[in-house]
Amino acid sequence: MIPPGSTIGIVGGGQLGRMLAMASAQLGYRCHILDPHDRPCAADVAAEFTRAAYDDRSALEAFGARVDVATYEFENLPVGPLGVLADKLHPGVKSLAVAQDRAEEKSFIEGTGARVAPWRSVTSLDDVARAVAELGVPIVLKTRRYGYDGKGQAWIRSSGDAEGAWEAIRGEPAVAEAGVNFAAEFSVIVARWADGRTTFWDSPDNVHREGILRTSTVPAPAVIADQVEEARAAAAGIAEALDHVGVLTVEFFASADGPVVNEIAPRVHNSGHWTIEGAFTSQFEQHIRAICDLPPGSTALAASSVVMANLIGDEIDGWQALLSDPRAHVHIYGKGAARPGRKMGHVTRLTLK
Ligand code: AMP
Repeated sequence: MIPPGSTIGIVGGGQLGRMLAMASAQLGYRCHILDPHDRPCAADVAAEFTRAAYDDRSALEAFGARVDVATYEFENLPVGPLGVLADKLHPGVKSLAVAQDRAEEKSFIEGTGARVAPWRSVTSLDDVARAVAELGVPIVLKTRRYGYDGKGQAWIRSSGDAEGAWEAIRGEPAVAEAGVNFAAEFSVIVARWADGRTTFWDSPDNVHREGILRTSTVPAPAVIADQVEEARAAAAGIAEALDHVGVLTVEFFASADGPVVNEIAPRVHNSGHWTIEGAFTSQFEQHIRAICDLPPGSTALAASSVVMANLIGDEIDGWQALLSDPRAHVHIYGKGAARPGRKMGHVTRLTLK
């Protein structure tokens, strides 16, 4: 057990690191952020900050010597250098390695028995043409690495689109994935302890626009609720196979065949921000509890319904109007310039019957 008063290292200094640091502080921990940027928003709420590249082994070693436990808040990190954190790192590097490569991820998920969309690994336009012939259209090409929020993706809606889509992803190694005809999208967020205990929150109905999450709503409609039991079993199986400690997020499509895994994130997730006010224990606090081996908190709903809406790009400029709603829980990440598509904050509203 890592007791309060200890120092938690967080690799990555974005809004997820910021909210993890805030939850850590509530439980009496100090946080040390490692991030290559000048003033990452998590560093504003943490006790210590190391500015270093993610592959700077000597900086990671010094960081590792000064923290009692370490975690990460995003998945595009070079895996090799993180090895210096060894047993202090939760989740471990396996979760990271699997989640950061879409082909590895899909094979791994299939290996656990969970359902994914039919897919092929592609490294050439010929491969793409073969995937179109074998899987039919629509197909989405997704680069194996460094994709997020719909980036590194291109749709093929007829076989004539193949070349344009391949160019759009710049001919990078990719997966070609059959388009799923889904009724809704949802996520299962699971927190897992080293001894195998797991907790789940209600699964939110997630609405995306242009590949970016816009809203998460709980409780979800029946089309999702009916699939949650099977999806939880799949998520628990994936977490166990990864020997994952901490929060793991599995995103699903609710299809006519049942839940189809879209992707996993080995971390707290945007679709779980509603838990800060909408559940007895937030995903951020539960992650800290799991990696420090504290007892689990209750994940029960703290309201009859909860809606979280992201503030993307210049939507953050509406902060004054949002704050004039006295019941809106407004979160502003303090990230500086509001570029299009950048997640700048979120607002959560609870309904109490
Ligand atoms: P991703 O970055 O993989 O989460 O994809 C972003 C969004 O694109 C998803 O949330 C879906 O709305 C959509 N999408 C991705 N893959 C598929 C698919 N195979 N079929 C249908 N929609 C998809």
